[in-house]
Amino acid sequence: MLARFAPGPVVRWFARPYVAGGSMDDGLEVAHDRLARFGALATLDLLGEGVDEEAQVLENVSTYRTLIDRLATDPRFEDRATRPSISLKPSAFTDGPREKAFEHIKPLVEHASAQGVAVTIDMEDHPWTDLTLDWSIGLFEAGHDVGTVLQTRLNRTAGDLERIPAGMRLRLVIGIYPEDAAIAVTAKPVMKERLLDYARLLLARGVRVELGTHDEHTLERFLRDVVPGHEDACEIQMLLGVPRRPFAKRLMAGEYGAIVPFRLYVPFPTSWDDATAYLRRRMRESPSVMWLVLRNLFRARKAR
Ligand SMILES: Cc1cc2nc3c(=O)[nH]c(=O)nc-3n(C[C@H](O)[C@H](O)[C@H](O)COP(=O)(O)OP(=O)(O)OC[C@H]3O[C@@H](n4cnc5c(N)ncnc54)[C@H](O)[C@@H]3O)c2cc1C
Repeated sequence: MLARFAPGPVVRWFARPYVAGGSMDDGLEVAHDRLARFGALATLDLLGEGVDEEAQVLENVSTYRTLIDRLATDPRFEDRATRPSISLKPSAFTDGPREKAFEHIKPLVEHASAQGVAVTIDMEDHPWTDLTLDWSIGLFEAGHDVGTVLQTRLNRTAGDLERIPAGMRLRLVIGIYPEDAAIAVTAKPVMKERLLDYARLLLARGVRVELGTHDEHTLERFLRDVVPGHEDACEIQMLLGVPRRPFAKRLMAGEYGAIVPFRLYVPFPTSWDDATAYLRRRMRESPSVMWLVLRNLFRARKAR
């Protein structure tokens, strides 16, 4: 209700902590600021999935190409080890059949590879799972620095883990898309237990694990029980605006056990009109996000 009728400025106000300003420049600036101030790495993501016109697809392709070129030439990101990676959602690259997205994703990944920019292909709802795995594994095996994502809520994921080749980057998340109980678990504690179980299985097979969660208890268990012995193959990832600063600081100082790289997922829009439409859609799909945002805002105010 609120998402549908709230005026654009209200939606923007809600989204402010979670989106890097209103342009690519803002995204790059946030990435650099967090690196310089906290040593946090970043992955940059264009807000703009779910397009319905060819022109939007072409605009998304062009924005990502520019982003790759900017990352490769920006003196603030000269060091390959700390240069931000990019994340992209396949649905941003087709206005028709899903398969068509690869016609744009493949050349983009090849361009990123030539420019020394790592790519993660995000995972959307279950009709995308097979395609996303086929594309990302194929591109990784062709020699590109490409990773992807698996969602522990889906029951099929236990089998999908076995497809991920050694050396590939794999972000493990619980999954943001509501999925039917016929194919997914609905209890968060089960999804979170699977995060740890699956991380162990992947690490044992030589896969590089990026844990994408804000759940402090799960993160503590990951660092204490799963990471030791695999520090070079692990990373923790969170969404811009979500982690509480004191917790992130303790995490990066190694107070919970092992120290591993910490990366922020930094979404940026190219226009606030597109971003507002996108945010309305996400709020409608997942109304609980509104309450999380509110709760975090109040928590942030109280802490000041
Ligand atoms: C870097 C990264 C990349 C991701 N990529 C994908 C992807 O490709 N595909 C996919 O399906 N999902 C993706 N996700 C989303 C993920 O699947 C979860 O939906 C999301 O992280 C919330 O789950 P949680 O594990 O943090 O646990 P939760 O129990 O949902 O959250 C733990 C606590 O974190 C806070 N919190 C969590 N999310 C938010 C939020 N959005 N706003 C404000 N506070 C919040 C709340 O305080 C909550 O109590 C990604 C998440 C991260 C961190």
